[in-house]
Amino acid sequence: MSARVLVVDDLLPNVKLLEAKLTSEYFEVLTASDGPAALEMIQEHPPDIVLLDIMMPGMDGFEVCTRIKENPKTMHIPVVMVTALSGASDRVRGIECGADDFLTKPVNDMALFARVRSLVRLKMMMDEWGMREQTSDQLGAMRDERPIADEDATNARVLILDDNAVAAAQAVETLKWDQNEVATATTVEDAYAMSIDEDFDLIIVNLDLSEQDALRLCSHLRSTDKTRQIPILLVVEEDEIERLAKGFDLGINDYLIKPIDPNELLARARTQIRRWRYQGRLRSNYERSIEMALTDSLTGLYNRRYLMAHLDGQLKRMQLSEKAMSLMMFDIDFFKSVNDTHGHGVGDEVLRELAVRVTKNLRSFDTVARYGGEEFVVVMPDTDLGIAMSVAERLRANVAGEPFKVSAPVGELSITLSIGVTRALGVDDTTDALIGRADEALYHGKRTGRNKAIVWTESGMYDISQPQAREAAFVE
Ligand code: GH3
Ligand code: MG
Ligand code: MG
Repeated sequence: MSARVLVVDDLLPNVKLLEAKLTSEYFEVLTASDGPAALEMIQEHPPDIVLLDIMMPGMDGFEVCTRIKENPKTMHIPVVMVTALSGASDRVRGIECGADDFLTKPVNDMALFARVRSLVRLKMMMDEWGMREQTSDQLGAMRDERPIADEDATNARVLILDDNAVAAAQAVETLKWDQNEVATATTVEDAYAMSIDEDFDLIIVNLDLSEQDALRLCSHLRSTDKTRQIPILLVVEEDEIERLAKGFDLGINDYLIKPIDPNELLARARTQIRRWRYQGRLRSNYERSIEMALTDSLTGLYNRRYLMAHLDGQLKRMQLSEKAMSLMMFDIDFFKSVNDTHGHGVGDEVLRELAVRVTKNLRSFDTVARYGGEEFVVVMPDTDLGIAMSVAERLRANVAGEPFKVSAPVGELSITLSIGVTRALGVDDTTDALIGRADEALYHGKRTGRNKAIVWTESGMYDISQPQAREAAFVE
């Protein structure tokens, strides 16, 4: 994985050292020697990650970090504070400024590369979600502008894997300060089973279990769909950097070095919980906006925009595979008089029940869309004209035969449909032509008395209930 790293330090030898290390691992390195220069560079060439010195004359690292994280355009860029200070209070202060991690000078290579890779992975995921948000924008959906910092980091569900009862109890106490609900496990098997059964926001794993390899849990979690993205915080001894690096390769998100400082544990837990919730919000916004943009809110069916895109793809696929495909279009007869007589609300109820009935009468891989006000289209892949005709006739008979339930005082209402059916005609056919033929057949039904299903064939249009329709369809 290559990435662009910005190294910010007022001392040239420090810059050169990190630059050499990162370049040897094929990262692209940019450098800046003070805060303002760094901020300008971030605006002009946004890096994938920033390694930031804390003690710099003028604007210090905390200030630079705060500014990066305040700006909506740059806030998603991960920042790692690189510092000679090793006190937990500075780490906490950095994390409160929005820093994503710390490296202590002299920088250990293993920790550096593992950290940079893990944060770059995270950023790529965020970029992907950002792109999807843009897609939602193009579809006209509302964008959710709340930043990650607005995410609540309390009342989370946390799982701790630790076979040391005293250490686990201390961590539980600390995490309860944020009203977290904390569960504990002492074996890899139990922790894995619990993570499948329940919905955790964070899993904290003690790397040195006395009898088991805790990394096995990390590996299980990352290879299971349900738990693949849940944040994992690893608790390690200072001399376990190599296994920690393995943990990062497996996809853990962050780590803590023993002895655990309660403030640092809380700060790191909060960061992970916030990110997890933010990611969840992006995902559900995206799904909701796609749904809103592609479905019709009255009936829940697909809308015309979805239909046209979908039909285009289906038609091409069918043309390549030379399979059959049919399409049906239908329209409620004299629907205007339903509205005029009983009101628009009753009309809406009819449209909703019609959507339910149609969906029930079709197979799951048929696509039903509301094409216009009281006009619908059904795309039936892998369906020849004979079957499509049966489906159309069955739908016509079902609607005409069973009154629709609407609210009192009307109670029940009889309606009928006019339906047009056609099939895809080989490689030169187009979506517009396909819809045009179904429309033509539908209007033939309207002209010849309504409550009819009509098939379009190359030899003419026929009422499906007449024997000539079957003959013409089978000649095709
Ligand atoms: P025809 O048999 O020729 O199709 O006659 P019609 O009255 O059904 O056709 P027309 O196109 O004249 O009228 C369609 C009506 O559908 C007019 C419009 O008010 C109504 N309509 C369209 N969308 C909705 C909707 O979302 N809710 C309700 N209640 N009515 C709708
Ligand atoms: Mg109508
Ligand atoms: Mg109409």
